[in-house]
Amino acid sequence: MDRRRFLQGSGAFAFAGMSGLTGCAKHVPMTANATAPSLPLYDAVSPIIPIRADIDRIFRITVCLRPFRPAGPRLDVERVGEKTIVHNYGHGGSGWSLSWGSAAVVIDKALAALDGKREIAVVGCGALGLTAATSAQRAGLKVTIYAKERPPFVRSSRATGSWTPDSRIALTSAAAPEFATQWESMARTSFAMYQSYLGMAGNPVEWTDRYQLSDVSREEQAAHHEREDSHGFVHYNPRIADLVPSQHDLPPGSTPFRTKYVRRTTSLTFNVADYSRQLINDFLIAGGKIETREFHTPQEIAALPEPVAVNCTGYAARALWNDESIVPVRGQIAWLIPQEGVNYGINYGNLNVLARRDGIVVQPSVHGDDDGWGETDETPDRAAAEAGVVALQSVYKRTQAGRA
Ligand SMILES: Cc1cc2nc3c(=O)[nH]c(=O)nc-3n(C[C@H](O)[C@H](O)[C@H](O)COP(=O)(O)OP(=O)(O)OC[C@H]3O[C@@H](n4cnc5c(N)ncnc54)[C@H](O)[C@@H]3O)c2cc1C
Repeated sequence: MDRRRFLQGSGAFAFAGMSGLTGCAKHVPMTANATAPSLPLYDAVSPIIPIRADIDRIFRITVCLRPFRPAGPRLDVERVGEKTIVHNYGHGGSGWSLSWGSAAVVIDKALAALDGKREIAVVGCGALGLTAATSAQRAGLKVTIYAKERPPFVRSSRATGSWTPDSRIALTSAAAPEFATQWESMARTSFAMYQSYLGMAGNPVEWTDRYQLSDVSREEQAAHHEREDSHGFVHYNPRIADLVPSQHDLPPGSTPFRTKYVRRTTSLTFNVADYSRQLINDFLIAGGKIETREFHTPQEIAALPEPVAVNCTGYAARALWNDESIVPVRGQIAWLIPQEGVNYGINYGNLNVLARRDGIVVQPSVHGDDDGWGETDETPDRAAAEAGVVALQSVYKRTQAGRA
């Protein structure tokens, strides 16, 4: 989840103007005005059911390594013997969000290399492999996925599941000047494709509300997050600010949250369990094959029968391709039992929470964006998981029963 999404919204307030009788509401930025409503005139805060933040409701703890490259993902073409390899790895904390856009880039390159041939290999069955394979099928290719693991055992299955296209995707000091434009194109392509997964049985993708809770002003918060980013990650989200609704300040007392400021926006949630199952099912129904296989060297991939292979091996590309530019950025999630009617996200200081259909993701961090940098230990830390759940208890006002 991206804390900056909340801080980069339009001005302090926004309200909706109704355009005549068409009922077509649009968001109109408003200059600061002490008496102005902070919610659209037609809007209301729907009931927010508190999350049952009990440590005995933790049903699993997962750890995953973000495949971060300071220059941004690797999407170039390489020859290994007779084989053309198109790389598609290194998407940091944005792999799900950018996946379709990244697939569009690499499948175009693969089609050019195929020169009329119709068969392609995709190595890897995570977020990037599944979307590259599906995009290749949609381009009319016969596709085989080769992978050591498939969902739910891939690292992608341990992601938060939020629309976070610029989360730890590159460093300002290392990204090429043209990367921002390519990023924007990938983000817009992905966002458009995600709309085609809305409204399906199982809710693979849905729009859900996010609450930014804070006891300090927006400016103080921004300064705090700035201090916690010692590496200088790029922040491109303002380039696509038109894609998701701007944030609103909610009136005091209108929510069960106890903080001084409560702001709300709405964004995409990926219910990763169902979404990846649907991606696999669609791929198989369209005639794709998945072969369980582990590669130890690029030459083993070069020996595959297909003339072109797309390399979607994520963090594992560090060892397989000897790409030492990949920095592991560790992230841990405590999973709480899902709750009927609870489908929102919370961002409070360094605590990120997202209630999904397949579990309520609780992610505390100590150092904000710097958290987990260079860490390779994928062993769950139970104490940190419990600390996150206890922190979540503190965001709700106490009720008469003594608990939110
Ligand atoms: C805690 C956390 C939260 C995150 N939250 C989000 C989020 O909310 N939104 C978002 O967009 N992104 C998020 N991310 C980032 C996202 O999870 C990654 O960018 C993404 O999972 C990378 O996917 P991938 O397909 O490249 O790699 P993987 O999921 O690691 O898949 C790699 C595939 O390659 C295969 N493979 C690897 N090596 C070999 C080999 N030698 N031989 C054969 N097969 C091999 C694997 O078996 C697997 O199938 C998060 C990451 C973390 C850690």
